[in-house]
Amino acid sequence: MKDNYLQEFDAVITAITEKGVILDRSAFYPESGGQSGDKGKLLTTSKEYEVKTTKKRNGMVEHRVDTLEDLEVGAKIHGILDWSWRYECMRFHTCQHILSRYLQLNYDLVTVGNMIKPGESRADYSPLNDFPDDMKAKVEAGVNEILSHDLDVVTKFMPRETAISYLREKGYQTRYLEMVPKHVKEFRVLLIGDYDAASCAGTHVKNTSEIGHIKLNKNKNVGANKQRIYFSLLESM
Ligand SMILES: [Zn+2]
Repeated sequence: MKDNYLQEFDAVITAITEKGVILDRSAFYPESGGQSGDKGKLLTTSKEYEVKTTKKRNGMVEHRVDTLEDLEVGAKIHGILDWSWRYECMRFHTCQHILSRYLQLNYDLVTVGNMIKPGESRADYSPLNDFPDDMKAKVEAGVNEILSHDLDVVTKFMPRETAISYLREKGYQTRYLEMVPKHVKEFRVLLIGDYDAASCAGTHVKNTSEIGHIKLNKNKNVGANKQRIYFSLLESM
C-alpha cells in the first residue's frame, strides 16, 4: 500500500491454508480491483517455493504456492516478487487510470470494469455502443500525449468522507466508490499530476514516463451500451 517498489522482504508464516500460506506481512499484491495477483518465490532456509498467484482471503494475503511440503507456522521466509510481472501490472494499471480519465473528460464515459495483467489489459466503458477506428486513433493519440508529460504519480491516504467529497468536488469518477465496503474508513487516493485522481488500492508507477506508449487493440460489445477496450503498452518510441 505504501511502497509499490518493494521487491523483497522477510516475514514469518502465520497460517497455512489448503492452497497456500499467510504471512505476518507481505509485499505480494493479491488479485483484486481488477489487478492480477503477484507471482514470485518464497524461500525458507532449506527450500524454494514458487508463488503461482496471490489471492485475498479473509482480509489476508494468501500466497498460492506450488507445494506446501515442509512449510510450518512460525517459519521464517524471504519473499521475492516476480518483478517483471508486477512492474508490468503497475505500468498497465496507471495507464488504465489515464485512459479512463481521458474517456471521461472527452466522451463522458464511465469505467465499469477492468482487468489488469501483463501483455494486454482491458477496461469496460459505458455508455458506448461502438468504438470506431477514428475514435480509437484519437483516443490513442490523446492518451499518449498525456503520458508524454512525465506526470508524477502520488499516493495520499485520506479519511473515507474526505476522499469522497474531494473526488466529487473535483469532478473525478466516484461511482465505483459505492462498491468499497463500509468498514473501509481510510481511502488510498492516487493522483496522476493534476490530470487524474482516484481511490485505488492497486500498484502504480511513480511517473508516467515509465509507462511508454499505449496501443489500443480490439474492442467488443459486453452488454447494452458497454464496450470492452483492450490495450497494450509499447516501450517509449
Ligand atoms: Zn486503479
